Amino acid sequence: MLKPNTRYAQLKKSHLFNTIYRKTDEYLKANPGNKVLKMGVGDVSLPLCEAVINALHEAVDDQANAATFHGYMPESGAPFLRKAISKYYKAMGAAVKENEIFVSSGACDDLCDILELFDQENTVMVIEPTYPEYVDTNILAGRKIVHLDAGEEINFLPIPNEKMKADIIYICSPNNPTGAAYDRTQLQSWVDFANKIGAVILFDAAYEIFIEDQNVPHSIYELDNADQCAIEICSLSKTAGFTGTRLGYTVVPKNLMRGGMNLNEMWSRNRETRTNGISYILQKGAAAVFTPIGQKQIRENIRIYKDNASYFMKVLDTAGIWYTGGKNSPYIWMKCPNGMSGWEFFDYLLQKIQVVGIPGEGFGECGKGFFRFSTFGKPEETKEAANRLCKLLKKREA
Ligand code: PLP
Repeated sequence: MLKPNTRYAQLKKSHLFNTIYRKTDEYLKANPGNKVLKMGVGDVSLPLCEAVINALHEAVDDQANAATFHGYMPESGAPFLRKAISKYYKAMGAAVKENEIFVSSGACDDLCDILELFDQENTVMVIEPTYPEYVDTNILAGRKIVHLDAGEEINFLPIPNEKMKADIIYICSPNNPTGAAYDRTQLQSWVDFANKIGAVILFDAAYEIFIEDQNVPHSIYELDNADQCAIEICSLSKTAGFTGTRLGYTVVPKNLMRGGMNLNEMWSRNRETRTNGISYILQKGAAAVFTPIGQKQIRENIRIYKDNASYFMKVLDTAGIWYTGGKNSPYIWMKCPNGMSGWEFFDYLLQKIQVVGIPGEGFGECGKGFFRFSTFGKPEETKEAANRLCKLLKKREA
């Protein structure tokens, strides 16, 4: 008799977005004509840049001619794209070789698949509040998960201590949902800790392009000995607007050994089994991101999102409300005023100013009393939402 994976029953029902949509819909039905500004969702609003679009068109044309046509692509990525990504790392001061880079169809896929490198008996550590995929994928794989609590007093950036035990450690910096980012010294402490206890860090760098502080590393490989303990997972989703186009890459260093096995070789073997590669067309589009013109154009879009962040940051600074993010991240994680829970603040904003964000509770217990704004929205709507928030917070003080 077939036995299903009963661990699916252990997954928390994802009420978060459903509840947000339901409450928003109910409000709109009761108040037709009011404009609700959606500032919660972490999806981009700006289109792909011109350099990428041109490269995609050219690649489509290549597929129309026998001389330039491409069939199956190498399962770990096209040499031209791996080379371009390796150069990108070099420019940020990290030595990552082409054969250490694996092209994927997005970070989400690799965050799940990469777990196939590890035995089920390993213990996983996630920092709370957390991006939910780290938890769900490990529940499904049947691993023990330990939750490391983060809070306001440490700016949502815990550092390791002697008592902690884990085999796989998730670090997302800049963080989703908190927007907090580890500086060099803090991140080095995680690298040293992982090397000391023989753990592997899964470093999620999906938001590296938003970093402004010189002291915040863009890649974990900027740090000493990270190539002996860390896998880095990257995505063009937020960097270059590829959420609907799909492309990411994962770095597994040649020096990463555990239990006498080489994780780079294992991942290479995994790719041979698991995928027939990423579409030639998409890889051509992605390669354009790493050209000088592509970099200039994607950074123009990032600048627009950063301006969005600045509208919210100004309002919160003026109101004296505690928050992280915004500077090195497209997310702003604010403390709800007057001791409100995230859900209470959600209702308050919806009813009073018709602005929707995400209650911190959606990212775990430690998110209670906090609220996430995304700055990926349209500039005019984001400005309007920030203005409405400003007026509301002023009224609150009066
Ligand atoms: N990692 C983090 C922290 C994210 O926030 C996201 C998407 O929001 C992803 C990974 C997934 O990115 P992708 O679109 O490449 O699957």
